[in-house]
Amino acid sequence: MLPVEQALERILSALAPLPAEMVPVSHALGRVTAEPIRARRTQPPVDVSAMDGYAVRAADVATVPATLRRVGSAPAGGRYPGILGPGEAVRIFTGGPVPDGADAIVLQEDVDASAEADGAAITVREGAPAGTFVRRAGLDFRTGDVGVPAGRRLTARDIGLAAAMNVPWIAVTRRPRVAILSTGDEIVRPGELVESTSIVSSNAYALAAVVRAVGGEAVDLGIAPDDRDALRALAAGARGADLLVTSGGASVGRHDLVQEALGDGSLGADALRVGFWKIAMRPGKPLIFGHLGAVPMLGLPGNPVSTVVCATVFLRPALERMLGLAAGPSAPAEAVLAVDLKPNDRRQDYMRATSEPGPDGRRLVTPFVKQDSSMMSRLAEADCLVVRPPHDPARSAGDRVEILPLDAGFLSI
Ligand code: AMP
Ligand code: MG
Repeated sequence: MLPVEQALERILSALAPLPAEMVPVSHALGRVTAEPIRARRTQPPVDVSAMDGYAVRAADVATVPATLRRVGSAPAGGRYPGILGPGEAVRIFTGGPVPDGADAIVLQEDVDASAEADGAAITVREGAPAGTFVRRAGLDFRTGDVGVPAGRRLTARDIGLAAAMNVPWIAVTRRPRVAILSTGDEIVRPGELVESTSIVSSNAYALAAVVRAVGGEAVDLGIAPDDRDALRALAAGARGADLLVTSGGASVGRHDLVQEALGDGSLGADALRVGFWKIAMRPGKPLIFGHLGAVPMLGLPGNPVSTVVCATVFLRPALERMLGLAAGPSAPAEAVLAVDLKPNDRRQDYMRATSEPGPDGRRLVTPFVKQDSSMMSRLAEADCLVVRPPHDPARSAGDRVEILPLDAGFLSI
């Protein structure tokens, strides 16, 4: 059995960031930059006013009150065409270009104006040293500056910055296309005729949701019965995908056919080449990683909780690698146990748990008493997984443990 960390390393080293594509800035939220976003203009392009008021020469208002003559105006987008002379002021508004000759802005609240018209006398009651309320050209960024580095998932703030930088198109990594194949004679789709022996497929839906939450595109290849030919036929639909994820049939039971059917030598170059298939973790021991022809394949166990936990531990980082993000194990958080735990065996355990704010800023976690890997209700209720390393000794309430919050940051898993 392979330790979780080594399994993840091997998966990640078999994957690479996908090529870039251009998307409009309006559609780039959540996408990952393939190249740095660079400013295509300087902002502000010239010195502008940060306030509504009057552009003046600081020397003219060194002693107040000072009486000046309004000679023009400079709204945002407009410009006073002349050069400000001694004793002159220009009515200016936020974002308006500071006229040549002016070096400070006085607030309109600090000015008495005889009229709101050019030629009017104004009295400035408060002085303004040079530079007051002037936004210098390039204060925010200059042409060529990097606004967003490569390999970053774009936030709403990044989108705003890119637009301000006059960047209408952004190079992002292509969304990973993930083909999802369910297996099992007993599996039916939600809403189909359900017999007492049927199991309603949850895995294909949960997996597709994980794929979308992380930023990929999911393609449902359907449900393969436990039959070699059918399995091969449906799995062939993965051709062209960036990753095939199967659920079920990953073990070596009589009905667990994934390795056997897809690994059949008669498939030649299209056969499954298994990298490894057993991981020291619970839930989720029988996990296959390999390549079906040219397509990387992750074969997840069928138990719904195992599927989702394995997706959190392996699929999410795999997608992040393909997206060009810094991919690795999810960063664990430190928490405090609310209850005692028995010693762990040789498999790394991912216990479903709920947490609440604890005494010293750390979460106080309570694993569910029943940890059966078929219980989707518990998994949905959980807000984190308590990670217990292999051979972790018995733990007492108050002990420190590591948790994986069930939150993808972007969308929740
Ligand atoms: P398997 O790994 O095929 O032995 O499946 C283990 C358990 O998971 C069995 O009880 C299956 O019925 C169940 N299972 C397999 N695939 C799915 C699925 N797509 N949705 C829900 N349960 C499944
Ligand atoms: Mg099965």
